[in-house]
Amino acid sequence: EQMTEAKKGEGLVERKVIRTHTPGTLITSSLIQDSAYNTLLALFHDKGHFGLAYTDVTTDTLYVTSVEDEKTLLDELVRLQPVEIVLPQKLLQDKSALFDELKLSLSPTLSTAEPYSFDVRSANKALLKQFKAQSLDGFGLGHMPIAISAAGALITFICEKLLSPIGHLKYLKHEPIKGHLAIDRITRRNLELFEPLHTNSKGSTLYELINHTCTPMGARALRSYLAKPLINIEKIKARSSCVHIFMEKRLESETIREYLSLIKDLERLSSRVSSGYANPKDLVSLKISLLQVGPIQKQLNAFSNPLIDSLRTKICDMDTVTDLIDSALVDDPPWRLSDGGLFKSGYNKDLDELALLYSNGSAYLAKYEETLREKTGIKKLRIGYNRVFGYYIEVSRGQAELMPEAFIRKQTLANAERFISPELKTYEDKILSAEEKKSKLESALFLELREKVASFTDEISKTSHSLSQIDALLSLAKLAFQGRYCCPEVDTSFDIEIISGRHPVIEAAKRSERFIPNDTYLSDKKTKMAVITGPNMGGKSTYIRQVALIVILAQIGSFVPAAHARIGIIDKLFSRIGASDDLTRGQSTFMVEMTETANILNNASERSLIILDEIGRGTSTCDGIAIAKAACERLITFYPKGPKTLFATHFFELTDLEKAYPNVKNFHVAVDETAHTIVFLRKIVEGTCDKSYGIHVAEIAGVPEPVIKRAKEILKELEKEPTASSSQHAKSMRPKKVPKKHPGEMTLFELKPFC
Ligand code: ADP
Ligand code: MG
Repeated sequence: EQMTEAKKGEGLVERKVIRTHTPGTLITSSLIQDSAYNTLLALFHDKGHFGLAYTDVTTDTLYVTSVEDEKTLLDELVRLQPVEIVLPQKLLQDKSALFDELKLSLSPTLSTAEPYSFDVRSANKALLKQFKAQSLDGFGLGHMPIAISAAGALITFICEKLLSPIGHLKYLKHEPIKGHLAIDRITRRNLELFEPLHTNSKGSTLYELINHTCTPMGARALRSYLAKPLINIEKIKARSSCVHIFMEKRLESETIREYLSLIKDLERLSSRVSSGYANPKDLVSLKISLLQVGPIQKQLNAFSNPLIDSLRTKICDMDTVTDLIDSALVDDPPWRLSDGGLFKSGYNKDLDELALLYSNGSAYLAKYEETLREKTGIKKLRIGYNRVFGYYIEVSRGQAELMPEAFIRKQTLANAERFISPELKTYEDKILSAEEKKSKLESALFLELREKVASFTDEISKTSHSLSQIDALLSLAKLAFQGRYCCPEVDTSFDIEIISGRHPVIEAAKRSERFIPNDTYLSDKKTKMAVITGPNMGGKSTYIRQVALIVILAQIGSFVPAAHARIGIIDKLFSRIGASDDLTRGQSTFMVEMTETANILNNASERSLIILDEIGRGTSTCDGIAIAKAACERLITFYPKGPKTLFATHFFELTDLEKAYPNVKNFHVAVDETAHTIVFLRKIVEGTCDKSYGIHVAEIAGVPEPVIKRAKEILKELEKEPTASSSQHAKSMRPKKVPKKHPGEMTLFELKPFC
């Protein structure tokens, strides 16, 4: 950056590096995403524990937490989606496998920092200074040395990059990992909460579906809702009752949304102001945004609801700030202060006088030029300016003789002569000093104004926070209204009861086709586990995902796509989805599948919900069935009341579980075979289905007719063979009865013994 103004007549100006840009320390609004936090995270490791500190440097809060194992760390990192991670070189080397694993889910910049910045004593000092505190105990960090190390290193890193103190970072919060619905990274990905499974399938994420927010901070608030669904019933109900009332009073809600859509990124604007990065246009944006606050607050009076009331009371009166900015700045000021002309006339008397002098001076020069032309008769005489001589009078060489004697010849060019006159020099001094004074004064006035506005940062932050919550809740109300969702009941039971549930994303994507709703009843007594069999393409995967998505929506306080829903709070959500999706993950698909299965078996609690889609497919049929069945038995018997499991499978053998356990129930996808063609009804009904309709699917997929015909013949022959009959396999799980197969994944054309 150029440190001093380029003055007329001076040569070189001072330049300095004033900031180093890294992905996590970007402040320029055009370089960072509006609807997501640009998270910078510092990571420290000691004695098997990890300390995490994270922030978005355009906001005012730094969060710290600690985790005890690598798996939770990975889940938390994927949830937080940092764009940059600051860590000691040694940690990067020691845990290279962990970072390789992380890279499969996200690709943050890994920046190593010197070990001293993680030193707990200096970190402690840095934090006390930053947050103006005597002790960190009050922040709940007294006994978290690893988190303190990480937070200290984070502050050091930011200061080194920004090369200035970060005054706007005012709040330090301990954010415990527990306290929300835990969704591990695999499940987050499988359920496409934020990222589509396939990079080019835009519009397929739950976040995109539910996001109808009007402001960037509202979009970020909604993102946090979805990243951290609640487990506290009161909090869930507080949100859903807001959604309810916003839906009921649609007109008033829409009016608020109209005001909200005029509001820019208040959260980031405010921290730009307090950190001294805001330009004149930013202040005007701030004014326009804050002007909407009063009317919104007034509209909110129409809603009587505890959460809305508490949000409304946290909205501050912004008239003083808006009046201040409005009295000072013109409506469309330049981006850069040095371009001048940003203040309204009447704001400052001295400035007005200087501006007058400056414009009078220019007018004087124009007039003086005209007078000289008349006096000398030189039509082409002109007044110019250069850095060496200042203002001069230029005439062609042939006409130099006509110039008055009192004029001093200053410079001879090839075709022209340049003169100065005493009169011209007197005015020159006046004009130049007026211009310089004007820009100096403008700059001082602007800094003063920005500081005055910055003194309202707390009020603006509070207001912005309230507005972001209201925006997010209004977005959920819009979603509920558009999608005809119902308000779920949430309780402490171990049941999930959904009548006419739909998959929110697929339903929205398939506007032309009707989405067939399905019911779900899971409870500790009757159905702890639902085993769902049925043809390929029948709708099994969609169904089990839809239950998980409905639970997530219910626990963020949203309405859900169903006619009725009652959800017993879930604490952890797990999923394991078909082996074929994992080819990009660099490990053998079977290994990945088993690691994920192990995670579920080791970590599921009584209150967890598990969706399993085709586990055990990655190995030979015998192995696969054996593992799948043993895993199911463990899930059914380990705790008395839970976890709840939805298991979509090709393995017909698993339907045997129903006989052995009273709280396992079989379901299948109904198929209509009465007509000439086979129709998948997408209805989940009780009982088992002993056909896979693989050939039918092959047919609609466009496999050539002769192949289909031949496949049907082969199938008939196979069905005749006694070893492959379905009845035998349904009866027995003994591996010797299953025909020997090559290990590997099943394909569409693979004929399963129970077909
Ligand atoms: P499966 O897992 O049984 O092979 P999927 O769940 O993948 O089947 O569903 C196959 C297709 O059927 C999906 O592309 C989906 O769009 C559609 N589908 C699934 N369930 C429904 C439903 N309830 N209503 C309408 N279409 C559905
Ligand atoms: Mg499937």
